[in-house]
Formats: sequence, structure tokens, C-alpha cells
Amino acid sequence: MRRLFFVLSVLTCLLLCGCADNNTEEYSKTIFAMDTVMDLKIYSSNGDDVLTQAENEIKRIENLLDRGNENSEIYKINQNKSDVVSEETATVITNALSVSKETGGAFDITIAPIIDLWGFYGNNFRVPSDTELQAALENVGYEKVQLDGSNISIPDNTLIDLGGIGKGYTSDMLAKLLRENDITSAIISLGGNVQTIGKKPDGSLWTVGVADPRDTSKHIGKLKISDKAVVTSGGYQRYFERDGVTYHHIINPDTGKSAESGLASVTIISESGTRADGLSTALFVMGLEKSIELWRRSNDFDAIFVDDNGKMFITEGIKDNFESANNYEIIKK
Ligand code: AMP
Ligand code: MG
Repeated sequence: MRRLFFVLSVLTCLLLCGCADNNTEEYSKTIFAMDTVMDLKIYSSNGDDVLTQAENEIKRIENLLDRGNENSEIYKINQNKSDVVSEETATVITNALSVSKETGGAFDITIAPIIDLWGFYGNNFRVPSDTELQAALENVGYEKVQLDGSNISIPDNTLIDLGGIGKGYTSDMLAKLLRENDITSAIISLGGNVQTIGKKPDGSLWTVGVADPRDTSKHIGKLKISDKAVVTSGGYQRYFERDGVTYHHIINPDTGKSAESGLASVTIISESGTRADGLSTALFVMGLEKSIELWRRSNDFDAIFVDDNGKMFITEGIKDNFESANNYEIIKK
């Protein structure tokens, strides 16, 4: 009997150890899509299969929402000006429009003609004249987008670009796919958009570094989180220089020019990647004071602001999860 107990114990131990090993095996993949480098890291027993599904999902969404892809629904809207779109595209546009309303138009998916004038789409950088910008601004305004169920229409010279929210939506869809595949521990980074699923295999929180806008090889702080999206927008992420002036890719829809709100970067921490993505772009345009007002009215995100002088501000919801060697101010409700 003792012997049987011993054999059973060894077998049980082997089984448990085997499971633990399988569960904590790391699978990772780097994919170039949506004009950025994407890193996926998951802990699973069938990681290769799940990573293949994730890659297919990224490609599916890119084919749906990329305005440069001739088969995408956004391309077709921009061509036809009036179209019937899938429920999914309608939902992404609805979410984008709601961030626009909430931020007084600081976030605007009709900014595309301005992005094109500056050459940020396709990296053909140039500095447009004020006359060109004023003419193009006539076609910009999120309220020009008419969405009724799946029917969408935009004026003749208006264009839609989901570049400011698409990666956040993709990270939400990847998190959903991973959870459906019983993945309880994963971290994905789509350019500046990080999404965490559960905790690390050892049960500790994920660490997400916040880049120093003045030296992106360094971190200005670290966040300890789980099951959250962390999305950063910053002028340093895409820019060009002409005659000693730096022009970056986040546009103030009021002026048609690179937003100069006094902020160098905005990081949003939220359960929703879509929302974090839309808000990070918008708050970068709005500047610190208006952003704090918006945060005080909301209850579903936290933020880290770095201003042009390198000063840091964090909202109080993340104060226990943030570490930095630098000084920072905690914003209270
Ligand atoms: P993000 O990196 O998420 O802040 O998004 C920046 C990208 O969104 C840019 O490269 C543009 O394609 C687009 N964009 C720029 N300014 C705006 C804006 N004010 N509202 C919405 N999208 C914008
Ligand atoms: Mg964004």
C-alpha cells in the first residue's frame, strides 16, 4: 500500500510538473504590419497555433481598416463616399466618433487630407503652404461623417483614416482571441500600443516601460500592470525636419499643423486598447489642463503626461503602480 502510494505520488508530481512546464512555455513572434513592428509573447502549451491565429487576425483587420489597401472597407468609403460597411467597421468608426465628441474634435478620423499634405502617409514629407492647409481643412470635421447603422457617407473631398485608433482596436481583438484560446498570460506590443493579458507566468505584474520622449532609448518610468492596455502617443514617434524645424505626425485639427500643446507624450492606461489609443492621440492635442479636466470627468482610464520640459504628471489611479527615478506630480480627482 505504501509502495502504491509512493508510485501514485511520483506519477501525480510528474503530471503536475509536466502541466506547469507546458503552461509556462514562452512563444513569441515579431510581425511587421500596419506600418509598425509588432511583438507578441504568449505563455501556452499550443503557442505556435495561437500565434498563427493572431497573425491572421492582424492581417484580417489590416485588410478591413487600412485606407491604403484597395480591398479594405475604408478604402471603399474614401472612393465611393457612400457605402454599406460591416458591423465591425461601423463599430470601430462609432468608437472613433465618440472619442471625437468627448474630446471636442481633438481626435478626428477625417484628418486624412491634412496627413497627406504633410506626406506622413507614405513618408513623402513636405511642408504645405497655409493656403493648402486652409483649403484642406474645409474637408475636415468628424461631424461630416454620417453613420446610420451600416450605412456611411462622407462629403466628396473628405477622407477617413483610422491610423490614430486602429492599432488599439487590433490589440483589443488580439486580447479577445488569446482569451478565447485560454491564454491567461501574454503581452503584446503593436508599435507604441501595449496590451497585457493576465499576469506573468510567475504571478507577478507585467512591467511596461514609458519611453523618455527626449531619449527614446531610455525609460522615464515603469508601470506594473495586468489586463490593461498601455498606449503612448508622442511627437517623437514619427517626424521630419526641414530648415531646423521639427514637424510631427499628430495634427491639431483646428490648425492643420503638428499639435503644440506643451506635451511631449501622453500614455493612457485603460482596459480598452481602442479607447486608450483614441484618447492618447486626442489628449496629446488637447494639452495638460484640458486633459486633466477630461480625466476628472471620466472613470475608465489613467494617464501619464510628459511635458516639453521633461516634467511628468501621473493621475492618481496608477500612483501605486508607477516607479520612476525622476520627480513627478500626482494629479488628484
Ligand atoms: P497615434 O500614434 O495613435 O497617436 O496616432 C497618430 C496617427 O493618427 C497619425 O500618424 C495620423 O495618421 C493620425 N492622426 C494624426 N492626428 C490625428 C488627430 N488629431 N486625430 C486622429 N488621428 C490623427
Ligand atoms: Mg492613438
